[in-house]
Amino acid sequence: MPTLYDCIVVGAGLSGLVAARNLHRAGHSVLVIEAQENWGGRMVGRLLPSGQWLDFGGQWVGPTQDRFLALLDEYGIRRFPFHTEGKKVLLFDGVRHEFDGFFEGFPEGEPPPVSQAEWQDAMAAWERFEALAQTLSPGHPRRNGHTQRLDNQTFAQWIEANTTTAFGHWYFAYMARTVGFLGPAEPSQISLLHVLWGHTCASQAEYPEAELIHGGAGQIPAKLAAELGQNLRLGEPVLGINQTEHGVEVETRKGRFAARYAVVAMPPHLAGRIHYDPPLPPMRAQLTQRMPMGCCAKILVSYDGPFWREQGLAGLGIGNCPWIELCADSSDPETGVGVMAAFVVGDRYRDWWALGEGESPAERFRQRRAAILADLADYWGPEALSPVTYDEIDWPSKPWTGGGYAAFMPPGVWTSYGEALTTPVGRIHWAGTEMAERWPGFFDGAVRTGEAAAAAIHTCLTAAHP
Ligand SMILES: Cc1cc2nc3c(=O)[nH]c(=O)nc-3n(C[C@H](O)[C@H](O)[C@H](O)COP(=O)(O)OP(=O)(O)OC[C@H]3O[C@@H](n4cnc5c(N)ncnc54)[C@H](O)[C@@H]3O)c2cc1C
Repeated sequence: MPTLYDCIVVGAGLSGLVAARNLHRAGHSVLVIEAQENWGGRMVGRLLPSGQWLDFGGQWVGPTQDRFLALLDEYGIRRFPFHTEGKKVLLFDGVRHEFDGFFEGFPEGEPPPVSQAEWQDAMAAWERFEALAQTLSPGHPRRNGHTQRLDNQTFAQWIEANTTTAFGHWYFAYMARTVGFLGPAEPSQISLLHVLWGHTCASQAEYPEAELIHGGAGQIPAKLAAELGQNLRLGEPVLGINQTEHGVEVETRKGRFAARYAVVAMPPHLAGRIHYDPPLPPMRAQLTQRMPMGCCAKILVSYDGPFWREQGLAGLGIGNCPWIELCADSSDPETGVGVMAAFVVGDRYRDWWALGEGESPAERFRQRRAAILADLADYWGPEALSPVTYDEIDWPSKPWTGGGYAAFMPPGVWTSYGEALTTPVGRIHWAGTEMAERWPGFFDGAVRTGEAAAAAIHTCLTAAHP
């Protein structure tokens, strides 16, 4: 007789591993099935010979990300503050400014050295944006006249109507593309409602990038997996899930596995590729066709040391450069290595990826690398041109993720199909950072949905007729 598990968790990213671990700790039998040869999903990276860890996906954590912080504390994983001492660099329209402030969603210290009219334009619009965000009710957006009006618009339309200067316009576009508001996405592709909601439940004003992790976030999946022992199958994409009123049968190329319940722990568009029998309810099927992943590559460049600090610079660069709109010092002070993390997002990613089209892969790589290093040199000077290591993590090309940082809602999706995002379908429950009501798109959101799925299934399993 095949084993009948209490629950099968599909996907060994952070949310799936947390769900499986919690069910296992509660005494239930669990099997995790993961498509890739390694666990972690978007929580992954590599160790340099120097001992410096590079996080290819997420890396930062903030003080109000309670559930992720609790996980770090539980495993004794130490953190260090994101290096902010020194001046920040703004590269705007080809002019380089150093300034002693910060302006990602909340201005601090000196304003950036643009004209007063430009800064006032951005800040006046910011006040209007915050006031509009406060009109939303807590939790996932629900359909009503107000949310529908917001959901009918793109964020680009709101920017157009609310800013008058090039800087004001770019300030909000940059926030949508690179920093906050979930996604990341070009403003023309994302719903205004989604952006406002993202600002209420995952706000930059709560400092989600306050700290980094000694040894990297990528060490966490192994710790969770260790608790699961042999009950983890890697390199085995789930192709189908059949369910009856008594249980589920999960199918891979290597076999069929039976359980009372399943948790599908992945971004919605990937959950939509699994074959379900009986088919998913129409609203859930429609939703999974409409929630694209953000479009972003993360570049990690390491140097012998964080040389920018010797010039009095914090290592935070922001600007409307050809490729890099945001780069940040990610050096672990215990290794002495200098690490710069840079992000190429949205249409910049599209154009960067097309560099050298028609040339050999090696030549295309050379051109992409040269483009990135040229931007970094504009931020940090010519030393940036000679890194010790260069890693480009092309998230949109990764079939088991499809983009990064997370999925977002284009116009109309929240108010037409949003209710299907978290609703279980019979014995199938959903997890993944995209499902979170708090810190969606972040590690914290992934932990929360993993915990919630495990709690819901524990309740089902301990009910009179599981
Ligand atoms: C570049 C980048 C930077 C980021 N920065 C930060 C940050 O600084 N701080 C932060 O908090 N968050 C950050 N994030 C977001 C964070 O990494 C994610 O929110 C989190 O890791 C998502 O975990 P998850 O379990 O929800 O999904 P995933 O990690 O995507 O896990 C889903 C898993 O399901 C598997 N899978 C998919 N399809 C199948 C199938 N058919 N069968 C079996 N398995 C399948 C996948 O292989 C994957 O392992 C970043 C992400 C990226 C990409």
